[in-house]
Amino acid sequence: MADLLKEVNGMCEGDAVASGVSRGSSPDEVTVVGLEEKQRQFNAAMELYSTRRVYKRFGLFVSFANVSLQAWLVWCILPLSIGIAGELTALLVAWILADFINGLVHLYMDHNDNYDSFCGPLIANFHLHHKLPRYGQKSLPVVYFLESGSKVWLVPCLALLAATAGFFRLHPLLFHTLVYAGILSSVAEVSHYLCHNSMSPVVVFLGNRRILLSKRHHAIHHMHDNVNYAFLNGVTDPLINLIAARFPKGYKQNTDLHYATYSGEIGSRQ
Ligand SMILES: [Zn+2]
Ligand SMILES: [Zn+2]
Repeated sequence: MADLLKEVNGMCEGDAVASGVSRGSSPDEVTVVGLEEKQRQFNAAMELYSTRRVYKRFGLFVSFANVSLQAWLVWCILPLSIGIAGELTALLVAWILADFINGLVHLYMDHNDNYDSFCGPLIANFHLHHKLPRYGQKSLPVVYFLESGSKVWLVPCLALLAATAGFFRLHPLLFHTLVYAGILSSVAEVSHYLCHNSMSPVVVFLGNRRILLSKRHHAIHHMHDNVNYAFLNGVTDPLINLIAARFPKGYKQNTDLHYATYSGEIGSRQ
């Protein structure tokens, strides 16, 4: 059991340093200069993240917006009965949809190196999960709330859904499915947290049944390159891996190298 957790958490710290491009060893000096510039940008972005309170406040605002919109949408679907079969169908489709969409966002983020943009500090902080995968220990509702703060993209999606449902009559089954997918996008963060932080037999059982994220399945994301981005349950990884193959830069020889010289505090997850 303990070996499993080690497998998920232990293979990452220092990988980037160990595999980093060494000065003079690369045939392409431009690549080395480019890497040094990215490392400088990364460190500057993390400096901003740790010193400017606006970034942590922004995360809290995004958490609050996501959780409030989720609660409002649940309130909206409560009077719409779709029966047990409809509920199960909506949940099943939402479970797959949320796994896929969140996996795609993860793929995009792992390739994102725009550290000198306004969102740069948030992007840099995101990459630190590969440096130290284990989270600080927190209760699950706190994880649900705080990690929803990293889902900036979810706020406009939920707001659009709420606005659409306000102006048009959405099919109740579709409405339920989209609301569940929105909530499961935050649950995906809890699933990822449990994958790294918990050895509870229930968590291992749910992971092995692919209801939550399996430790062995997710360990491949941290040990290898450009694979297994999904983090609700990983069932859509075969499809996401095909899409990822079209972005061959991956992260091991790309964004993982950018934090190689970073020695500060390990982000907001701790
Ligand atoms: Zn990743
Ligand atoms: Zn992970």
